[in-house]
Amino acid sequence: MSDREPLADALHAAADTLRHHRDLGWREVPRQERARPDATAALTAQESALAGCTRCKLCGSRSTIVFGSGSPRARLMVIGEGPGEEEDKQGKPFVGRAGQLLTKMLESVGFDRERDCYIANVVKCRPERNRNPEPDEVAACAPFLAAQIEALQPAVILALGNFAAQSLLRTKEGITRLRGRTYDRDGIVLVPTFHPAFLLRNPGPEFRRQAWDDLKLARREHDRLADSR
Ligand code: URA
Repeated sequence: MSDREPLADALHAAADTLRHHRDLGWREVPRQERARPDATAALTAQESALAGCTRCKLCGSRSTIVFGSGSPRARLMVIGEGPGEEEDKQGKPFVGRAGQLLTKMLESVGFDRERDCYIANVVKCRPERNRNPEPDEVAACAPFLAAQIEALQPAVILALGNFAAQSLLRTKEGITRLRGRTYDRDGIVLVPTFHPAFLLRNPGPEFRRQAWDDLKLARREHDRLADSR
């Protein structure tokens, strides 16, 4: 038997299958979608796995682990830095002043934060006095953020501020230079923009206009990818 015969057999078998489907009335063969795992179950399992976490020193100062909130079916994932005081109390991300502004920013381009978004942070426990998370703390939480992204398989990630954008893009470039365009992060469109806490501290119209441009970009990418599914 020549080594081309197995290939010829396989092609004949594929042709037979296609003829069979044609005879049954099929006019096109649907492309197989990658099955999305049950995101709700996966997120619940990860949150349970984090309960009582002592993987890094943030466990000593936190009151509550702030895992994430929103819709497990969301195509937009929003990622911030880490919980602040109010989030630490309530166990939910972005519920303080910056969170209220974030809610309005999302609404300005038609996203409802509970229905259309899933919101999480790079680290799940509040750093004392809202300092930046340290590399060992980010490393300890990284598998959980990666697992959230894997469970959700979002079309678009909106990265809020220097810290989230730099961690997710593995760069030291600042947000002012990073924002205004999209990045490919392992097949997911990433849109960096200013952190709402930065916008509260710098309320000038220019930063707000740029943030709004970024949100419109995230909206366009979200809709483009939803249409092409
Ligand atoms: N800032 C963040 O980065 N995340 C929150 O959850 C709240 C404020």
